[in-house]
Amino acid sequence: MRNFITTSIPYVNDSPHIGHLYEFILADIFARYKRLLEEDVFFQSGTDENGMKMVKSAEEKGRNVKEFVDEKFKEFYELKEKFNLSFDKFIRTTSKEHKEGVYKFWNLCKEDIYVGEYKGYYCISCESYYEPTEVPDLICPIHKKKLEKFEEKNYFFKLTKYLNKVKELIEKDKIKIYPEEKKIEILNILREGKLKDLSISRDIKRSKGWGIPVPKDNSQVIYVWFDALLNYLTGLGFGSKDESLFKKFWERGLVYHFIGKDIVKFHAIYWPAMLLSAKIKVPENIIVHYHITIEGEKMSKTLGNVVSPDDFLANYHYEAVRFYLAHQPLFSDWDFSWQNFDSFYQGVLKKDLANLILRIFGILKNIDLDEIDFDKTKEDLEFQRYFKKFKNYMESFEFNLAYQNYLDLIRKLNQFIDHKKIWESKQEEHIKVITKGLLEILKAYEPILPETINLIKNKIEIKDSKFINKKITFPPFYK
Ligand SMILES: [Zn+2]
Repeated sequence: MRNFITTSIPYVNDSPHIGHLYEFILADIFARYKRLLEEDVFFQSGTDENGMKMVKSAEEKGRNVKEFVDEKFKEFYELKEKFNLSFDKFIRTTSKEHKEGVYKFWNLCKEDIYVGEYKGYYCISCESYYEPTEVPDLICPIHKKKLEKFEEKNYFFKLTKYLNKVKELIEKDKIKIYPEEKKIEILNILREGKLKDLSISRDIKRSKGWGIPVPKDNSQVIYVWFDALLNYLTGLGFGSKDESLFKKFWERGLVYHFIGKDIVKFHAIYWPAMLLSAKIKVPENIIVHYHITIEGEKMSKTLGNVVSPDDFLANYHYEAVRFYLAHQPLFSDWDFSWQNFDSFYQGVLKKDLANLILRIFGILKNIDLDEIDFDKTKEDLEFQRYFKKFKNYMESFEFNLAYQNYLDLIRKLNQFIDHKKIWESKQEEHIKVITKGLLEILKAYEPILPETINLIKNKIEIKDSKFINKKITFPPFYK
């Protein structure tokens, strides 16, 4: 199976925070999980750099837009190294390759694009228009800021032409939205029938010249969302000389978009409509994760409670962060606190998991496993059941449940060692169980602890039933 796995692309008007990191890590875990199953994966992320938001933020800081954007891009890109994110591609929407793909796409949709007069209200923070009927007080419902009134010539996309088809695709799960709650929300919007055609350009003066000019019309730049969504195609080389990745992973693969809950409408309605217009396949899966509150409060600069990726690295190994985030629920808001994070790290990661691995290595140290016949046993079947359950949870994006399932196994194995006093008895039947248990755990935890598991795998050698324990050191996160 071919899988194209993406994160949404963050705006570069500010530094990354825990919310960005969370989405990157979720998608990375899924990409690594698919690779574990030996499926073909292309994993992509990037940065959204063209909007007016970037111009405004740079101006407020008295900075040149290009320099400002380059600097912020770097902060996002550096997360790849810092948190061992296995991106195959990181696309910038100000790149030449992106622009070429956007032009190709615009031309494919040409019949559905027309010039009109726009009158309405806009939130720069959302980079989104609002109808006065949606917001009678003219205040952005998300940012609580006064909306700006826009009145200008714009290009429009015939969104309304495709809404019935989009509704049908979602109803039939051809575009599957996780969780069900979000699918219902989107279907309700579609059934209300209030959506209008989408304005897909802005006056270039308003955008201060920043953005991708509309083909053959330099007075307008393409609306940032219209261009940003196309990153999912241009990152695969769509519109370039070599479209082989696009053909392989988009046209003949399964698409998985990981996004946050405030941008579902863009991904589940506008994006499929755009693709239908261009006669390109729609994405199969949209996975909507929920938000993180910080010690009970919404994260905000005003409150000064923003948690940045670097805050973690000051005191913890990055794998402790991956481990912690993997255990949070995707489909409900959850609360972060340093106390909770630290107790999870000390308790579950160190006391349960790391301790078990070290104990088993200690026991196996002087045993010649060559002498043991590891053919199928009852215990083996039980381990297979764990992995089967794990897979079911992973495929429905309930990563927290997938790993809770393994925490159960870890605790069972720890108890088993205690009850049987295996370090003394070293009975062959027991040695078999813990060895197989260890291998099972190494497999399941690879997506969230890639460095540790690889390090351990390098310390042991497994061939058929042969297991050679070279020498285990403390896992990197165990500092
Ligand atoms: Zn807003």
